[in-house]
Amino acid sequence: VLSTMQDVPLLISRILTHGSTIHGTSQVTTWTGEGEPQRRSYAEIGARAAQLAHALREDLGVTGDERVATLMWNNAEHVEAYFAIPSMGAVLHTLNLRLPPEQLAWIVHHAADRVILVNGSLIPLLAPLLPHLKTVEHVVVSGPGDRSALADATVRVHEYEDLLAGQPVAYDWPELDERAAAAMCYTSGTTGDPKGVVYSHRSIYLHSMQVNMAQSMGLTDEDTSLVVVPQFHVNAWGLPHATFMTGVNMLMPDRFLQPVPLAEMIEGERPTHAAAVPTIWQGLLAELTAKPRDVSSLTQVTIGGSACPPSLMEAFDQLGMRVCHAWGMTETSPLGTIARPPASAVGTDSEFAYRLTQGRFPAGVEARLTGPGGERLPWDGESAGELEVRGAWIAGAYYNGPGAEPLRPADKFSEDGWLKTGDVGTISPDGFLTLTDRAKDVIKSGGEWISSVDLENALMAHPDVAEAAVVAVPDDKWGERPLATVVLKEGSTADFTTLRAFLQEEGRIAKWQLPERWTVIESVPKTSVGKFDKKVLRRQYAEGTLD
Ligand code: ADP
Repeated sequence: VLSTMQDVPLLISRILTHGSTIHGTSQVTTWTGEGEPQRRSYAEIGARAAQLAHALREDLGVTGDERVATLMWNNAEHVEAYFAIPSMGAVLHTLNLRLPPEQLAWIVHHAADRVILVNGSLIPLLAPLLPHLKTVEHVVVSGPGDRSALADATVRVHEYEDLLAGQPVAYDWPELDERAAAAMCYTSGTTGDPKGVVYSHRSIYLHSMQVNMAQSMGLTDEDTSLVVVPQFHVNAWGLPHATFMTGVNMLMPDRFLQPVPLAEMIEGERPTHAAAVPTIWQGLLAELTAKPRDVSSLTQVTIGGSACPPSLMEAFDQLGMRVCHAWGMTETSPLGTIARPPASAVGTDSEFAYRLTQGRFPAGVEARLTGPGGERLPWDGESAGELEVRGAWIAGAYYNGPGAEPLRPADKFSEDGWLKTGDVGTISPDGFLTLTDRAKDVIKSGGEWISSVDLENALMAHPDVAEAAVVAVPDDKWGERPLATVVLKEGSTADFTTLRAFLQEEGRIAKWQLPERWTVIESVPKTSVGKFDKKVLRRQYAEGTLD
């Protein structure tokens, strides 16, 4: 029997049209650092996205599925690019502005980006790279910043606002194949070289609906979301697309990502929701402790990207900011799990434990655990193995350059097409994922595994510890042993004996797992998206420069 349903392609242009009409009065507010923030309605964003598409097509000659890159902070213009580029059929490539310049150049070349939209404040980063970006023909500049470094550029340089001026405010968006490429993002390379993931219109559409589910972020047009997670970090976790489906207002921090302006934004603009990696929130917490402010509007904080330390969750709870822990990857669009406790646990002693897990799989994400010998492991909350996932917004391969067959490396994809996440953990019978570590970070000591994350969380629970990162180092007897690198809070007097005793108290950490190597460091090196960079720590240890 054939279905009798209409076959309407799930396109980004449909999300844009919906958001800019039905939710036309919702707003994107962009922080400017001084005076009034910039405010733009979804209706205006829709009109300007149409203008941008006309400019790209007619003035810059962008056709087909050419790649248009963005080197931008979170702001209204970046949202316009998010919608204009895929809606016209081109592919949005968000560039991670914190990558080392040579990696950025490699990625631009690999994706064959033809146009780069850049914020004026990022010209100092882009200008010296341009001579190496052979595929790039046009640079379009928006927002404040000195343009003079682009004066001698051999590419054509345009002003964003000049390009838009006078263009029609409607665009006859093409009826594309929903499986066509819409956007691409390279992994941030925490554990290896960056790999390109190409999202389809369909995958983004379905992922956005999932973000909006009540058991997921579940926001409505009564909410304002402070989108701290960068738009270049897995599409800001899907928020710009999801908000255009529901009319959630967005508060964009632009380049003001330091604790003080973030605290000012929360106090001044009163967002109800915010999303970012744990390191951002650790910084904000220190700021709010030093200078308390009215943050009462902010009742829901989505934390993911790396494990949320229990101490952070508790501290935020006390401030009335309820943390919702989530797990995902560039390859999973990114929302793979989200930790809303089941109804049976709400209000009971187990509620907090559920919230500390990485969360429950939503409909649309299938999961399985694979043991070291390739065997399937049960969902008993105890058997630990590598997490593999499958679903309509999960990558099945990596981009391999224009026109080339996508790559399916055997260490990343199973023979039957599941994504091997590289994350090790357990799944409870009711579908909650608990990650113990990344496969590459786990410490293999005498045939047993020690979770670096468990040690870090236990250390960061000590009141004198600001941050702690634990890495495996070679050991003659055990193969590997943990090395604890600790950042102490200002004025703290804690020493290793104290910290060691603390780890042992109340059975926090088993004796055989206790680190015997310690070092105090100024700060933990961070990756381009603010995660602990353990590759750097391991290298510094090997070179003898860790202190
Ligand atoms: P990269 O792998 O370069 O860091 P991603 O941002 O795609 O780039 O990172 C995905 C990885 O981040 C996951 O595979 C996992 O190891 C880690 N991660 C994400 N969310 C969490 C979380 N809530 N708890 C623990 N680890 C997490």
